[in-house]
Amino acid sequence: MSIQKKDIRALSKAQLRDFFVQKGDKAFRGNQVYEWLWSKSAHNFDDMTNISKQTREVLEANFVINHIEVDTMQRSADGTVKNAVKLHDGLIVESVLIPTENRTTACVSSQVGCSLDCKFCATSRLKRMRNLTPGEIYDQVVAIDRESKLYFNRPLSNIVFMGMGEPLMNYKNVMKSINMITSEEGLGMSPKRITLSTSGVPKMIKKMADDQVKFNLAVSLHSAIDHVRTAIMPFNKMFPLEALKEALEYWYAKTKRKITYEYVVWGGINDKQKDIEALVKFCKYVPCKVNIIEYNPIDDGEFQQAENAALEAYIETLEKHRIVVNVRRSRGKDIDAACGQLANKK
Ligand code: SAH
Repeated sequence: MSIQKKDIRALSKAQLRDFFVQKGDKAFRGNQVYEWLWSKSAHNFDDMTNISKQTREVLEANFVINHIEVDTMQRSADGTVKNAVKLHDGLIVESVLIPTENRTTACVSSQVGCSLDCKFCATSRLKRMRNLTPGEIYDQVVAIDRESKLYFNRPLSNIVFMGMGEPLMNYKNVMKSINMITSEEGLGMSPKRITLSTSGVPKMIKKMADDQVKFNLAVSLHSAIDHVRTAIMPFNKMFPLEALKEALEYWYAKTKRKITYEYVVWGGINDKQKDIEALVKFCKYVPCKVNIIEYNPIDDGEFQQAENAALEAYIETLEKHRIVVNVRRSRGKDIDAACGQLANKK
């Protein structure tokens, strides 16, 4: 019978130090290995060149490093890069590198598939298989940082948790990955450059506020009218707008950080004046801004991008109420890398 070896990146630094002490080695060895695992992102014990061969064999006998492998990489005409990433158990997720004039943004996945059932999102058609580990999320960031240096001669500057999955349904691992991304013992990135996007799990939004997180929060709103939102995001039935509002008020009271609402406008769904008015009302609850995202078609047309006139009406009304609104053009559409298109098609 083979014993399943433990993923060494599940251990804290203190646990690694203890491991070495128990093996009769120095606790300091734990620090060295920890540095290899995170800041140097080693994927093999043999890469750990300042660790003796004997010690590497001990590690090999006790642990594995469950790391990702970039399986296929596609490049869009607009420079966007999509990675299909293979996990140690053969499952695949996708992550995206989005270059703009002076930034590189990594869009990372937090789960394999998704348990939400947003009608307009391609990922919702993939069954949620499992949560990603902190190491698997971290590795996606490292891979994109390398690609950014290779293709654009600059390191990664921003991270958005807007790939596959609902990050707040994998809370512990997502937080641990962000801790390592921001820690000086990991990538040392500023939390101000990280945005977590959620469909809005009220309890977990409050938990983040209690945990005093320092990154940005985005909420995929899409409608501020309950029955409309429930029709396109059935999850809203369980967590209606009133509960979301209350959680966001709590978030703002505790963190004093503005919220971004992501919003797609579809013809015949949320393109009327009453939809706009409901959004304006919702925007008054806590300081926020609105990102209107272009719809990326995922199928034969149940959903369609609204007419320009409807978009203009949104922008005009929001601005009249002094609500900041941006229109986000989609990127990487030709390789199915845009918002809501991640579906492991390749
Ligand atoms: N589950 C989280 C993280 C995914 S983020 C969340 O819902 O926020 C992906 C973003 O793309 C969300 O704002 C989602 O609503 C949006 N999206 C999904 N499908 C889309 C599509 N076909 N076109 C444009 N945006 C889409």
